[in-house]
Amino acid sequence: MQHNPRKRFGQNFLTDVSVIAQIIAEIAPQKTDCIVEIGPGLGALTRPLLKIIDHLHAIEIDRDLATRLQTEFLPEHLTVHAVDALRFDFAHFGRRLRIVGNLPYNISTPLLFHLSRFSHHILDMHFMLQKEVVERMVAAPSTSDYGRLSVMLQYRFDMECVLGVSAACFRPVPKVESAVVRLNPRRQEPLTANNESLLAEIVAAAFSQRRKTLRNTLQRYLVPNDFAALNIDPGLRAENLSVERYVAIANHLDLEFGV
Ligand code: SAM
Repeated sequence: MQHNPRKRFGQNFLTDVSVIAQIIAEIAPQKTDCIVEIGPGLGALTRPLLKIIDHLHAIEIDRDLATRLQTEFLPEHLTVHAVDALRFDFAHFGRRLRIVGNLPYNISTPLLFHLSRFSHHILDMHFMLQKEVVERMVAAPSTSDYGRLSVMLQYRFDMECVLGVSAACFRPVPKVESAVVRLNPRRQEPLTANNESLLAEIVAAAFSQRRKTLRNTLQRYLVPNDFAALNIDPGLRAENLSVERYVAIANHLDLEFGV
């Protein structure tokens, strides 16, 4: 049956078989993996995944598409959760969860922030996103793409862009180019902010006016002595600080002042 793509749900369906095969190869699914697919749509990734794995969970907000998938696959192979992924409790699946999806681009940033709260339950994630968003996620300090999204995601994950995907690979054709990114929770060198809300607050304040110096943007938090104790030049701008430095600022404030 024909499905009319719904713009409000960011529906651009992947149709290029070679790109689908490359994404599946990057995911490298194993038979007994616990995998959740966000936004399965018409099943471009769902179908090849279910050729390999025993069972898949799919979260699809569009009830028509959810029903289609439930008709195509038996419940012992596919569990469809017809809900909003932004409200989904991913802790539900234990601690070796693999999450995949060609994400709806209109909610990608809030969705990434939502998912990062479950990093302790996640083994890895593979997402197709707008290329520009992937560039911001993996950006290094002192580059124009480095911002709040880079710091807050790099705090929790090691990330790499694994595939560039042209707009021509989707129907309808989107206005933007895409890329596939892999996220692995930082296991080798985990970073620990004692107060993660404070870290998020400081990073947001620093990048609120990225042209201004830290002396200005962080004046509510840091006096000259704090900059000296942290060995940070107050004349730097938000984009010049590494993730580790942001964590050091948050922990300094948390320890010294209990802010
Ligand atoms: N995976 C399919 C593919 O590759 O062709 C569809 C990808 S399409 C870019 C995004 C999918 O996410 C759509 O099926 C859309 O209905 C679904 N979606 C949009 N917002 C959602 C949300 N908040 N929660 C769950 N699914 C959502």
